[in-house]
Amino acid sequence: MSSNERDPVPHFIRNIIEADLKGGKHKSVVTRFPPEPNGYLHVGHAKSICLNFGLALDYQGKCNLRFDDTNPEKESEEYALSIQDDVRWLGFQWDGEVRWASDYFEQLYAFGVELIKQGKAYVCDLTPDEMREYRGTLTQPGKDSPFRNRSVEENTELFQKMRAGEYPDGSKVLRAKIDMASPNINMRDPAIYRIRRAHHIRTGDKWCIYPMYDYTHCISDALENITHSLCTLEFEDHRPLYDWVLDQISVPCHPQQIEFSRLELQYAITSKRKLNQLVTQGLVSGWDDPRMPTIVGMRRRGYTPEGIREFTRRIGISKSDNVVDMSVLEGCIREDVEAKAPRVMAVVKPLKVTITNFVEGESQSREGEFHPQRPELGKRVVPFAKEIWIESDDFMELPPDGFHRLKPGGEVRLRYSYVMCCDEVIKDAAGNVTELRCSIDPETLGKNPQGRKVKGVIHWVSVEDALPVEIRLYDRLFTVPKPDSDKEQDFLAFLNPDSLTVVQGWVEPSARDAQPEMLYQFERLGYFCADRRDHKPGEHLVFNRTVTLKDSWAKEQG
Ligand code: ATP
Ligand code: MG
Repeated sequence: MSSNERDPVPHFIRNIIEADLKGGKHKSVVTRFPPEPNGYLHVGHAKSICLNFGLALDYQGKCNLRFDDTNPEKESEEYALSIQDDVRWLGFQWDGEVRWASDYFEQLYAFGVELIKQGKAYVCDLTPDEMREYRGTLTQPGKDSPFRNRSVEENTELFQKMRAGEYPDGSKVLRAKIDMASPNINMRDPAIYRIRRAHHIRTGDKWCIYPMYDYTHCISDALENITHSLCTLEFEDHRPLYDWVLDQISVPCHPQQIEFSRLELQYAITSKRKLNQLVTQGLVSGWDDPRMPTIVGMRRRGYTPEGIREFTRRIGISKSDNVVDMSVLEGCIREDVEAKAPRVMAVVKPLKVTITNFVEGESQSREGEFHPQRPELGKRVVPFAKEIWIESDDFMELPPDGFHRLKPGGEVRLRYSYVMCCDEVIKDAAGNVTELRCSIDPETLGKNPQGRKVKGVIHWVSVEDALPVEIRLYDRLFTVPKPDSDKEQDFLAFLNPDSLTVVQGWVEPSARDAQPEMLYQFERLGYFCADRRDHKPGEHLVFNRTVTLKDSWAKEQG
């Protein structure tokens, strides 16, 4: 597989890589995807995964999966496992074993000692508040810590004692000794180690000091011989620190950090912390709720790896804002599943029709192809019967002009079957239409009726043969395009109360044995995916609407 099924889209990171390969700076490309195992991955991570693994594939290089596990309180094995599943499901495989920043804790510690020995790191006893005060602001330089000039011997001993657990949490940090007057606040003697007695998913209680992200990340990259360390733009101001650390110590190589813009999806949230909030507050059914922009959520909804990869190809890589309309993602999914999904008929809002002139043994069931462009998928029998369900929206008693579906006295083609005329409308006491009595024209099987044009074609299922199906219809999770950009109101205020509608419908019998995750086109309704969790083939059918047949967003927003 190449990174994507289609030609790669050129972008500035490709240009850099190509120049590096051509100019001999590197013989091959090594990238990495470095998630923190503190939540499930979302669509933004998919962009980063496709970029990092995709580049490695395109240039016959390697891509590592490395967990950035330096925040023990927030991290878990569950998250780490889910991330591995997500990467594989998207179609990628990392080079060798999964790697962990914690694999390097011993080396990171040794580099800390190395920095101290060179007089480039010191143990500082300022409290967090004092630290903040000494740090200065964007317009004011910082002040040197009173502990900045401790001797190498004292620092070596204090750092060793920090590791040995002789000091309480938060009482000391190891800081890089750079420049308290730097215009870049990240360079004002940043902390590189802190004391934290927290149980770690990999190292257990072995450590009570943990290295900070900025310090850990660059060294881990260098130890893995990463050539191009790709990250999002918020790390641009951290690049001088990345480079500074690597310049001071003896590491095998000095990877190049390159930043690109984060993907933001309209009507969605791309922050693990906020997604976590939705889950823990029970506002969605879990990380894999099909309304979630998580990879597991998209998967459960029926989005395909191919569609997601194509999406990341289309949105491209740059340094400018990358706020993308949901319709771009849905368009990619629709295109992919359109080519794959077998067609069946299902009715979501059933209205009963009795065929008054149905003749047992004579009025025929028909065969329908599962896919008009894919004869290899074969055909299925679509049973016809005296009673059928049609979509209640396909009938109107007083239709506007140009309505080509069913109306009193009007005719419509039943998909794969006869032309049918509505002879009688039956209502309940409240005036609601409860049933239609219709007749078919027996001469219209596979041919047009004589002397008249019937424009509409509607879907239907046989009442006696259809299977009950729970259908979950999804709408956008938020009511505004940028739910987390409002300064006054919390993003939760913009949750769409109607983002999930569950209906009881009917599907034709050929879907009886659909396996979980199987995708169908329910003709005229959209693409639907058998739910990974709740769908039980042959027993309890549960389908999620993956995407509608046409783009309904553009219209609604316009
Ligand atoms: P979040 O804010 O959702 O927690 P994060 O950046 O903290 O995201 P990490 O686990 O650290 O999450 O991310 C792993 C990689 O994915 C990083 O290289 C990060 O830059 C990238 N990434 C995260 N979010 C996005 C996004 N929205 N678009 C593109 N890349 C992203
Ligand atoms: Mg992070």
